[in-house]
This record gives sequence, C-alpha cells and structure tokens, in this order.
Amino acid sequence: MALLQISEPGMSTAPHEHRLAVGIDLGTTNSLVASVRSGVAEVLVDESGTALLPSVVHYSSDRDPQVGAQALEHTAADPLNTIASIKRVMGRSRQEIDSASEYVPFQFEQDNANVPRVKTAAGPRTAVEISAEILAALKARAEQSLGGDLVGAVITVPAYFDDSQRQATKDAATLAGVNVFRLLNEPTAAAIAYGLDQGAEGVIAVFDLGGGTFDISILRLRKGVFEVLATGGDSALGGDDFDQAIAQWWLQQSGLQAASDHQLMRSVLTAARQAKEALTAADQTTMQVALPDGDSVKQVLSREQFDGLIKGLVKKTTVACRRALRDAGIEKSDVTEVVMVGGSTRVPLVRKDVETFFGRSAHTGIDPDQVVAIGAAIQADILAGNKSGDEMLLLDVIPLSLGIETMGGLMEKIIDRNSTIPLARAQEFTTYKDGQSAMRIHVLQGERELVSDCRSLATFDLTGLPPLVAGAAKIRVTFQVDADGLLNVGAQEVNTGVAASIEVKPSYGLTDKEIETMLQDSMAHAKDDMEARSLREQQVEADRVVEAINAALEKDGRQLLNAAELAQITTSRDQLIDVRNQAGDPDQIKSAIKQLETISEEYVARRMNASVRSMMQGHKVEEFQP
Ligand code: ADP
Ligand code: MG
Repeated sequence: MALLQISEPGMSTAPHEHRLAVGIDLGTTNSLVASVRSGVAEVLVDESGTALLPSVVHYSSDRDPQVGAQALEHTAADPLNTIASIKRVMGRSRQEIDSASEYVPFQFEQDNANVPRVKTAAGPRTAVEISAEILAALKARAEQSLGGDLVGAVITVPAYFDDSQRQATKDAATLAGVNVFRLLNEPTAAAIAYGLDQGAEGVIAVFDLGGGTFDISILRLRKGVFEVLATGGDSALGGDDFDQAIAQWWLQQSGLQAASDHQLMRSVLTAARQAKEALTAADQTTMQVALPDGDSVKQVLSREQFDGLIKGLVKKTTVACRRALRDAGIEKSDVTEVVMVGGSTRVPLVRKDVETFFGRSAHTGIDPDQVVAIGAAIQADILAGNKSGDEMLLLDVIPLSLGIETMGGLMEKIIDRNSTIPLARAQEFTTYKDGQSAMRIHVLQGERELVSDCRSLATFDLTGLPPLVAGAAKIRVTFQVDADGLLNVGAQEVNTGVAASIEVKPSYGLTDKEIETMLQDSMAHAKDDMEARSLREQQVEADRVVEAINAALEKDGRQLLNAAELAQITTSRDQLIDVRNQAGDPDQIKSAIKQLETISEEYVARRMNASVRSMMQGHKVEEFQP
C-alpha cells in the first residue's frame, strides 16, 4: 500500500479548541496509546507509569475481565482463561484457523459458527470482543490522562492485513466505543514517527521484530507518497523464540526435564525473558529459577553465549529481508533508510546484523516499542483537526485490483490496484439474455483475467429487473472503498432504479505472501491470460450470435426464408457452434461469426423491412414524419 498526501478541506477547527485524539498500536504481544500534547507526540502511561499494556485478557465467571499486567498474572494458574496473542486470529474464519500451520494458543468452542469463539470462564468470546477489551482499557487510560472524552483514534494494523482483518479491527473499536479516524499500516506509522514522510525521495526498509511476529516492509517514498513495494517476514518468529532458546539452554545446563512440567517451564521462560532483556544493556546476567520443590537454580549467561543461542534465528530475519528486497525488485544499495520497530530490535545482535546486512545505520532514536503508536498519534492529531488547514493527510492505496465477473468467466476490473483511497468508481453493464430479470454480481479481487484465477470476495443478486431485450437494461455497478480499504459494492438499474448492494467483509483472509504470489502470478501469466481472455470473449460473442439467430429463426424464419436459404443459415450456424466448442483460437471463432453474419445479412434486412411494415400498418406515412 502507498500513501498520498492531500489536504482535506473542512477538517480544521479553531486553534483554541484542542480535540483529544490518540494513536493506538494494537499489538500481538503489547499495545500502546499515544497522543500529541503541546505539539509533542508521547505515549500515555498508566497509574504505575507503565506505557506497554500486555495484549492479554483474563476472563473469570464472577467478575469483569482484567486486561494487561493484571491479566498476565493469571497465566500460570489459569492459562485457559488468560487470552494472549488474539491478534493472530482477528478476522480469521474457523476454517482458516483449522487449516493454519501455526499453533494458535486457544481453545475454541466446537460449534458451527463461522466466526470462531474462544472458550472462556465467562462464556464464548470472539476475537473482536477480546480485542475490544484491550481497546477499552487503552481508551480509559487515555481519557484519564488527557482529562476528557476522545474525539477519535488512529489504529495501526500490519501492512498485509486484508479487508476482513481490518474490518475486525474496526468492529473491535466500535465495540469499545472508540471512534476510528482511520486504520494505518504499522510500517507507515513508524516512518511517519521519524518524519520520513517530510523527507527526500527514497526506499525505506521497516524492520519490525516483536514478541511473536517478524515483519519486513519495503516502502518507496516518492513525491510525498509511500508505496509498499513488498512485505515479508515470519508470523512465527520473535522475541518469544529468543526466550525459548535461552530456556532450552537452561534446561540442558541444569539437567532438568521440563517438557511435562508446565509450571516449571513457565518459570524458566519468565527467567529467560528477564535474562534476555537484561543482556541488552549488560554483558552478563544471572538467571535464577525457582524449582517446584522450593530449591532454586542459578545460571550465569553471557551476552556472547546468548548471541550464539539466537544466531540462527537472527539469520532468518536477514534472509527474509533479502527475499523482500528481491520481491520489491530493488538492490540493497537502493535502500536509503532503515527503521527499527518492535521490542526485540533492542537485542544488540539483531541491530548489528540488520545494520551489517543493509550496510547502513538504522533509525533507533525513538523507543522501538513506541514508534508505531507515536506515528499513529501524529496522524490522529492531524485528523482531529488540531493542525493548521494546509496540513497534509496520508492516504493509502489498495493492494489488489477489484472487479466483477462478466460473461464467460472473465474478471472485469473496476478499481485498479494501487489506486489511492478513499475512492468510488462506477461502470455500466447490461443484461445478456432477452427478458433477463435478475443479475448475479460476483465481486472479485486479483490481477488475473479469468475468474477462476482471482479471489472471490462476495456475490449478491440484483432482482426485479424489467424484462427488456438483451443489452437494453443499464446496470450501473459502483465500487466504493473507504479510507480503511473496506469495500461497498452497489448495483442499480438506471431506468427503474431497482438496486442492491453489499458490504464486503470477506470471511477469509489473504496473507502478505498470498498477495505477493497473486501479483507475481499475474505477471507470469500476463500473456496466457490475455489469450484466454480473448478466447472467452469470442466464445461469449459466438453464443450471443447463435442465440440471436435461433430466436429470429423461430419467430419468422419460415415466413421470410425459402428452404435453401434456411439451410444455408443453419449450416453456417452449426459450423459456428462447432468452431466455438473446439477451436482454441479466438480468430477462428471470429471468422466463423463473421461468416454467419454475412450469410444472414439478407435475412436481417428482410426482417427489418417486415418489422417496419408491420409497425406502419394502419398508419399514414406522414404520421411518422417530424
Ligand atoms: P508486539 O509487536 O509483538 O506486540 P513488542 O514490539 O512489544 O511486541 O515486542 C515484545 C518483545 O520485545 C518481547 O519478546 C520482549 O521480550 C522484547 N523486549 C522488550 N524489551 C527488550 C529488551 N530490552 N531487550 C530485548 N528484548 C526486549
Ligand atoms: Mg508491534
């Protein structure tokens, strides 16, 4: 996705009236809220001065859910009701979760609902409801620390989030009573936090290593527009894996087996995480783990040993960077800025390897946990109208083309990929058959020419059309994409006003990899696709011609044609049908159509005359003159 700067008229308000707006980083592991105060963006802390809110919710049957550090305390004693990493299943369908290769740490209700619900002591909860608890906690914190009601928020999402994941995020905000100005891509927010949107043209690599996920985004900045050239990463790689590596080492050193002992494993992991974070500043640290029998085991871990334990994991991140650069079609030396995001980029080895890989020093000046929330807060401040009228807004573009299915299984693009949003586009279509009273609108996403190669988003029917001859009905199909990339498709018959519409909230999503694959496929198959398309188009045209000639022959063939003429036309028609069904070459079908048309010319002329005659019967010629 890319960004475009525009100024939005009528958004600014009187300068004295500061409207309270926040940026929210709704993370997999941790969430934050930030706001611009006296011109400076800063994260908002809770009563104990902590900025990070663990993205964890604890449910109990006899009280309201707890969120954050309080919830986290229940992890060991009540793991099944302590819900973490809910972001991984946002906007995902039951089927998708079941078929996902990565492990999802929840127990779902075994029902047939398409939206999966997590089992909790307080009853089943959807991912949207669980995320809403986190957003509500952040909203409460913000209103308390800013001293008033929020006007709205900018919430960040990964660049690869699709429509349904974005919609789920918005739904969670609505449930939490948070007005969403817009959703913003996380890497874009980080780039904004460093003011890179104000800078010169260039290529920006945003390296985001969090607790459980790794995202690399390659953005191109040109004339104030950020375009996402590629996204990549690993949805199961992060600081948690560093903790695991230390824990395994500790178990080995102490000669203990923890595989079956969850309690011990949790204690080891907690100690491992503390050790890892300590080693960011210190050269060595002592890991102390309390054993169930009351003893405790101490181990000294040096930075050097730690680096050795995570070397392979860090290597994975630079391999993914190389892949993303290749997908973006650029060289390492084209990268002009590297931005570090996520708590795990504090690990010195990560920083060192990334800088070595890109051959330049990375932006690390802003706290890597906070940088996304800060960028979002800067956006929110502008959207709330706290800046002067000529301040710029950033807009995204849609990652894949959107369109509808037309006859012959072809994808007709209505909105091209990389169009800036929000936007609306309309196109007119018509009916294919005489007297057709309904039309099925099949909404598609993708770059390929054939429907079977695109992704189906939704279908809906436009019914109650006036029974007109083929081609006479005028159906206007409109596509509207709002600022968050959500799509509304409408269809209206222009003469009668008959209308139908659908809000597209697809029940399954695409990963960034799949989007890339779709784009690559469309390039690889461009030529085949064009050929397939023109073949289908000629087949559809052949069907239309055959259908028209059959309808005409049935009506007046016997009156207007002698037996020889009739035979000539039906033979030519049957030839066309054969060619249509057998030829793989659109030109052959085209010439068979042409042949039938030529042979039928005389017949068509006679039909015209006959119809004029019958129309004029009982009238004087003068009546038809102006
Ligand atoms: P997410 O984006 O997944 O919500 P964060 O960006 O908040 O996650 O990163 C959380 C991860 O950062 C955790 O694995 C945590 O242990 C790690 N982390 C936080 N502080 C440090 C530190 N000082 N040194 C090393 N790792 C750290
Ligand atoms: Mg994050």
